[in-house]
Amino acid sequence: MPPLRTGTDPLLLIPGPVTTRPEVRAAMARDFAPWDRDYVGFYADMLARIPAIAQCRRDTHVALPLSGSGHFIIEAAIRTFVPHGGRILIPMTGAYATRMARLARDAERIAIEMPVPPDAPVAASDVAAMLAADPSILHVGLVHSETSSGVVHDPEAIGAVVRAAGRRMIVDAVSSFGALPLDLGAQPEIEAALFTANKCLEGLPGLSFAVARRDRLLTSAGNAGSWSLDLADVYANSLAEHPGASRFTPPAQAVAAFAVALDLFEAEGGQPARLARYRDNASTLYQGIADIGLVPYLPHPAQGPIVVNVHAPGDPAWSLLGFVEALKERGFVISNFFNTERPSFRVGCIGAITPDDMRRFVAAADAALSDLGIRHRAPAAHHGTSPEN
Ligand SMILES: *Cc1c(COP(=O)(O)O)cnc(C)c1O
Repeated sequence: MPPLRTGTDPLLLIPGPVTTRPEVRAAMARDFAPWDRDYVGFYADMLARIPAIAQCRRDTHVALPLSGSGHFIIEAAIRTFVPHGGRILIPMTGAYATRMARLARDAERIAIEMPVPPDAPVAASDVAAMLAADPSILHVGLVHSETSSGVVHDPEAIGAVVRAAGRRMIVDAVSSFGALPLDLGAQPEIEAALFTANKCLEGLPGLSFAVARRDRLLTSAGNAGSWSLDLADVYANSLAEHPGASRFTPPAQAVAAFAVALDLFEAEGGQPARLARYRDNASTLYQGIADIGLVPYLPHPAQGPIVVNVHAPGDPAWSLLGFVEALKERGFVISNFFNTERPSFRVGCIGAITPDDMRRFVAAADAALSDLGIRHRAPAAHHGTSPEN
């Protein structure tokens, strides 16, 4: 078989799966028997390190693994915690909120979609009003970092009104966990926070997690309507067997890589250090993009540190796929699609990358645009009302 690519591999500047360190990838280069006593102990030790990242204690909370991508753990959490036919209020922050609503509906839960401006954090007062108006809504589903827009939402502020209303919350923290702070110890209304190995914790894909309340897992048995996606069953199995025991074959190599990724995360200084690096990445990129005549999609105050969207140049020669290919030739991979209302391209600021990589990316983007004959770099004039005007 031919190699996927010869020469140096390009750097991934996408919001997951992210660029990883070679030590992380190297951990996969062996075979494991997942039911072996040593492996089970190793897996349990790895899981035990996770609750502290969300500032909660292991006697109240537990980290549960599930094979598969982020969507699997989000569906599992909805099925496990929201009863069949139950109502979940979802602030429609963007593409990932839309996905959460679909997962809920397909699982025969009722998704109540709450409109939200695309370029600002969800207003807690709006959530409070929705909950007050409909006492039958038991849950709120919040996307912490909306990867489609780059806007960060505030689980602390939203959680406070959810808690005051006596409701519960599920947080899609897939593109934020490990970088943006999350305090589950102080927020008992959060039943589960969900994430994957391959975003801000800089592991490899194949493995997703919930950090969930132990008491709620015990009272949620029988809700899921799916053995594979039942987190209460994952928990019951861990209690009956061993915390590191798996019901089905786990992605054993991805687990091994994730343990190394956690070592590196802790050595870097944990969540505050990772956030600081990502903020540097994002601000270097945001400024650099503006310096070469491109226009960032979000106004500066709304821009989160995870992903930066940039308005597509208004030049008739612009083609997103052409730009993506030209960047790849220069050593960078960005997303080949966008989820914004107006055309854009998006660049991830997360992964094993630094502000220097961002500076090199900006230079590559500048050169690629020139090569493609794109002279007009500002966005096309926009007619009609759009939130960024
Ligand atoms: C990446 C991501 C997901 C999950 O995507 P998968 O491709 O299923 O891993 C969910 N929510 C958000 C906010 C994400 O960024």
